[in-house]
Amino acid sequence: MAAMSAVSGRDAGLALVDHHVHGILAGELDQAAIESGLMESSFLPPPGTSALDTQLGFAVRRWCAPVLDLEPLAPAEDYIRRRIELGSAEAARRFLTAAAADAWLVDTGFQSDAVTTPDELAALSGTPAREVVRLETIAERLIRSGVGAAGYGDAAMSAVRAAAASGAVGFKTVAAYRGGLALDPARPSAADVTAAAGRWLRETETEAGTPVRLEDQVLIRHGIWAALDTGLPLQFHAGFGDTDSSLARSDPALLHDFLLASQPAGTPVMLLHCYPYHRQAGTMANLFPHVYMDVGVALNYVGARSAAVLAEALELTPFHKMLYSSDAFGLPELHYLGAVGFRRDIAAVTGAFVAEGLWSRDDADRVAGLIGAGNARRVYQLDAS
Ligand SMILES: [Zn+2]
Repeated sequence: MAAMSAVSGRDAGLALVDHHVHGILAGELDQAAIESGLMESSFLPPPGTSALDTQLGFAVRRWCAPVLDLEPLAPAEDYIRRRIELGSAEAARRFLTAAAADAWLVDTGFQSDAVTTPDELAALSGTPAREVVRLETIAERLIRSGVGAAGYGDAAMSAVRAAAASGAVGFKTVAAYRGGLALDPARPSAADVTAAAGRWLRETETEAGTPVRLEDQVLIRHGIWAALDTGLPLQFHAGFGDTDSSLARSDPALLHDFLLASQPAGTPVMLLHCYPYHRQAGTMANLFPHVYMDVGVALNYVGARSAAVLAEALELTPFHKMLYSSDAFGLPELHYLGAVGFRRDIAAVTGAFVAEGLWSRDDADRVAGLIGAGNARRVYQLDAS
C-alpha cells in the first residue's frame, strides 16, 4: 500500500472531494427499497433473485456490514435485517461520517423531493456540501413559469447566471438521457431558441398534467452554452446510468465535435461515470485541455474489479484531469463504499507502479492527492468560495 501524504484532517486517510454525489432517501426503508437502492435499473430483479447477488451487493456485505456491527460478508438477509433494525437515521450517521469526505458537491436535479438537500446531507455527515445545478431542471422550471417563447432565451441565460451567483459550484447536463451526446456543436441562434421554446410551450399546454421534460435539442444546447458562459465547470453524464439513458448514445467520444467547439471558451467539461467508455473519456481528457473525467459510480458497481477499472481509467487520463466521485444516491452505504473503496484502490494501483520501480513513492502520493481532492479544489475553485 502506498503511504498517503495528502491526509485529511479527519481520519488520516486520503482527502476526498466527492465531486458528483446526491442526497440520501429520507424515512425508513424496507427490504425492497434497500435492494432497489443497489440498482441503477428501474426494473426489479427477476422473482426469487436478489439485487445483492452482484458485485455491488457483495461489496456492501464485505465493507458495509462491519459498520453495522456485523461480520464482513454477513449473509444478505442478516444485512438487511440489521439495516432495518438500526433505522435509517443511525445507518446514515454511521456511513456518512465513516466516509470522512472533505466536501460533497451535490447534484440536486434528480428526484430532489425524495432525497436530502445539500444542507441536510452536510448536517448528517459533518461534511460541507455545495450545490451543482442541473440545466434541464432550470429549463423545466422556466417553461412552467409563464415565460413567453420570445423571452425564453434570455430568461434561461439569466436563470443560469443567477444559479452561479447564488453559490452553485458547477452545472450538470443530462443531455445523454435526452437524445444523446452526439450534440450539434454550434451555439443555437436566438431565432432557433424562440421557435423551439414556442414548440415546447404548445406541447406543455396540450399535455397539461403530464410532467414537463426537456427533450428539445436546441433548448438543451442553449442551456449548455449558457452554462459555458459562466465559466463554472459543466458536468456531462456519460456511460453507465439508469434505464432512461441509451448506453450507446452516452459514449463520451460522441462529444468530440462539441469539445472542439467549446475548447476556446476554456470552461471545464467534466465527464461523469463514463464506464464502460472510461478509456474513451480518458482519451478525450488527454486530447482536450478543458476536459476532465471520473469513473464515479462504476467503482461501486464493479466491486471486486474496481482497482482494475481505476487502473484502466488511469491509462490515458492525465493525472491532473481525473477526479473522485461516488455518484452515491439514496443509500448512505454508497457514499461510504465509494470513499473507502477509492482510497483502497488508488493506493493499490499506484502502489503496484511503485513496487515495480515505475513510479516514485512521492509521485504516487502526489497523484492520489490530486485525484482525491486537489483537482476538484482547483477546477471548482473550492478554496476561493
Ligand atoms: Zn449522479
